[in-house]
Amino acid sequence: MSGVLYLVPTPIGNLGDISRRCAETLAAADFIAAEDTRVSLKLLNHLELKKPLVSYHEHNKKESGPRILERLLAGETCALVTDAGCPAISDPGEDLVRLCAEAEVPVCALPGPCAAITALSVSALATGRFAFEGFLPAQKKERRERLERLKTEERTMIFYEAPHRLRDTLAELSGAFGPERPASLCRELTKLHEQILRLTLGGAVEYYAENEPRGEYVLVVAGAVRAAEAVSLEQAVTLVQGLIADGMRTKDAVKQIAEETCVAKNALYAAVVSS
Ligand code: SAM
Repeated sequence: MSGVLYLVPTPIGNLGDISRRCAETLAAADFIAAEDTRVSLKLLNHLELKKPLVSYHEHNKKESGPRILERLLAGETCALVTDAGCPAISDPGEDLVRLCAEAEVPVCALPGPCAAITALSVSALATGRFAFEGFLPAQKKERRERLERLKTEERTMIFYEAPHRLRDTLAELSGAFGPERPASLCRELTKLHEQILRLTLGGAVEYYAENEPRGEYVLVVAGAVRAAEAVSLEQAVTLVQGLIADGMRTKDAVKQIAEETCVAKNALYAAVVSS
């Protein structure tokens, strides 16, 4: 019988954020696959654990992945950790999970620290619907195309960025989405110099023209506000009727369509009940 691949999230700055279950899983695993073994050794020393480590990162994943899979198929359990945060989120863990899934090796994900979710929760922007964008493509053309497609994204967007590219990225985001777009710049989360700047993209460009970007960043950017579409009262009634036919309550359907179309709620309700 094959073993299990455990995805073990590790602190994104504060070592106190390792959970008891994560520590126990690391202790119980036959071996640990780590992105940078030196980084993970610090955590293992903190937990007073001595475990066999294998290296698994972007530049060796093609060779290391199949070797790890072979051991899992032979019945060993492996804990996968990355330098910080949740394995498989903007790191090569994604490929190992796919490899295991294809080979029908069980994968068990433990909940824990993730920079994106930590930033979103503290951003003070809408959290109900969001799009995780990770790192923008490195190639200029692909970046431009990605930003072009995101111009109409209405969900809150989350980007990862390295400090040496922050200024350029903020300028590009401001150019694409406009300088008035609200954003939260979340720096060094859970660390001594944690800083949350809630401003506009234009304000962020100005701030970093005068301040040196330092540390790790998550950029949380408000989604586009949908331009009021010219929908007539009759069209809005039809939309409401469609939702009611799908099983929605009249009141809820009217509320949703009124919000989406900017047709006055009371007028819409009256038109729906008299139709
Ligand atoms: N898998 C990780 C996770 O769950 O967040 C992310 C890995 S990705 C290679 C690293 C990026 O995460 C950094 O460049 C930065 O954008 C973000 N990040 C990680 N730790 C952070 C922190 N303490 N504060 C702000 N951003 C952080």
